[in-house]
Amino acid sequence: MNALHWIGGEWTGAPTLDSLDPATGETIGRFADGGAHEADAAIAAARHVFDRTTWAQDARLRQDVLLAWAAALEQQRDSLAALLTRENGKAIAQSRGEIAGAISEARYYAGLARHIAGHVLEPEPGTISTMLREAAGVAAIIVPWNAPAVLLVRSLAPALAAGCTAIVKPAAQTSLLTAAMLRCFEQTALPKGAVNLVNEQGHAASQRFADSHGVDVVSFTGSTATGKKIMAAAADSMKKLSLELGGKSCCLVFDDADIAAIAPRLARAATIISGQQCTAARRVLVHASRAPEMREHLAGALAALKVGPGIDPATDIGALIDAPTRDAVDRTIQRACDVADHVLLRGGRSEYAFLSPTLVEHSDPKAFFCQEEIFGPFVTLETFESEQEALAKANDSVFGLSASVWTHDGPRAFRMARALRNGTVWINDHNKLFAEAETGGYRQSGLGRLHGYDALADFTEIKHICMPAGVAEGITPLR
Ligand code: NAD
Repeated sequence: MNALHWIGGEWTGAPTLDSLDPATGETIGRFADGGAHEADAAIAAARHVFDRTTWAQDARLRQDVLLAWAAALEQQRDSLAALLTRENGKAIAQSRGEIAGAISEARYYAGLARHIAGHVLEPEPGTISTMLREAAGVAAIIVPWNAPAVLLVRSLAPALAAGCTAIVKPAAQTSLLTAAMLRCFEQTALPKGAVNLVNEQGHAASQRFADSHGVDVVSFTGSTATGKKIMAAAADSMKKLSLELGGKSCCLVFDDADIAAIAPRLARAATIISGQQCTAARRVLVHASRAPEMREHLAGALAALKVGPGIDPATDIGALIDAPTRDAVDRTIQRACDVADHVLLRGGRSEYAFLSPTLVEHSDPKAFFCQEEIFGPFVTLETFESEQEALAKANDSVFGLSASVWTHDGPRAFRMARALRNGTVWINDHNKLFAEAETGGYRQSGLGRLHGYDALADFTEIKHICMPAGVAEGITPLR
């Protein structure tokens, strides 16, 4: 299986680089390595369709394309899920859930394609102000490897629904899955060049998308550090930016919670995609009176999770994305263990890119491992005495992506949810994401929202068309 570039409807380039199975290190296919040259060709193709065809005005065609794409993805859902697990390493049940979510999201935006509504006002007698929501233009969509199916569709489907044309730039590690998903467009009426694909090992193409004046929107999902580079590169062209960045999710567990019941759920929330999910539970803050139980149950639940090849249905935690990443994450975890108050569970490495979970307890929320995103199976346990202390600790972060509150006290849960500075707060749950519900970050977790109706705002401009229509003859102005 190979992944070439897809530019103007043609598959081009030579597959020279290996895509590896993180569970074994085996080569599963090859992808073409692009750069600025391929980026320019893709921008030209996407510009042509946007500037010279009625794509942006043909909502019914866009709906038909998205529905047909969803149908083609559905036909291949089992092979796509298997490929996702082979290329990314995640447990097969998570891959199946991700592909199903991606298909559902394509259908959601297919419906919305026919409801890109503006509004009309008469600000003074006889003057009609029409506010049209128009497609922003060419959208470059830069996707990370951790959830490459759903994060692709989460940006691409609203971009197409809004009337944009697009260029997709996957992470190198998940080039094969991305190409397989985009190949499904060949079974639709998508105009050639309305969606393009450029693969790369480095960042030259991404950089070109960010700084090019031919790109109107960059929808980037990835780390906060890279998001800042994209923002800086985009400054000269002042393009629209949709940035979905890193997080450090806190779980606030109050004294009335059933610790034995929720610890296994927190353990799963922390280790989803082997801890490589932006919203994964990272910091468990528990009321001090329940800390002894949480220590025991959370360490036990994390230790009980089965680490193994993602393709084995019994596996809970698959391999990390690749061996160098696993090694880097493990070194960071070791630095944390060296200074943490208590190491409650120390995970271990095994072949090829596997890493089992680590849990530390610590009292100082300023510690680097309570503040920085560590993208792997690593959890901190902290305590609090009051609502105020819990909020102060949870909100003391540069991130603001997501959090959860665990209590049977409804008003308390709502109070905490309102006070937490995060784009998403779950009550007695964690990591629930829907095509219909906007997600995004406060502070350095990002700009804009994806999922839901508001995602269309990231891919549209509002135009005011003002018409002095006048008032009908025989009607007298009052002033
Ligand atoms: P990353 O920033 O390294 O890479 C993301 C994408 O950007 C990839 O396609 C990569 O090739 C490209 N890229 C990397 N460096 C670049 C550069 N200098 N210039 C231009 N493009 C560049 O992120 P990652 O390690 O692949 O993904 C993990 C990060 O993504 C975590 O921080 C995670 O929290 C975040 N994430 C956020 C969300 C969200 O919804 N907020 C979702 C998933 C992942």
